Amino acid sequence: MDPSIIFIVMMVIAVIIFTVINSRNKGGRNVCTRCDGTGEVHEKWPDPNAPNGWHILDGICPKCKGKGKV
Ligand SMILES: [Zn+2]
Repeated sequence: MDPSIIFIVMMVIAVIIFTVINSRNKGGRNVCTRCDGTGEVHEKWPDPNAPNGWHILDGICPKCKGKGKV
């Protein structure tokens, strides 16, 4: 096998490892406590402060904006 090919393969592997480590360190480590990482919430409970008396939220999680992690 050509040594230059081995060098290129090792470089590619190094880049992949670096990318994985980098993405782990960049935020998004903690699972959102409001949607448990799903990015969506289905909330409904009585809320005296709400105009209709109910807190209703069905859809994208406002805490993580649908990402599931904070
Ligand atoms: Zn969330």
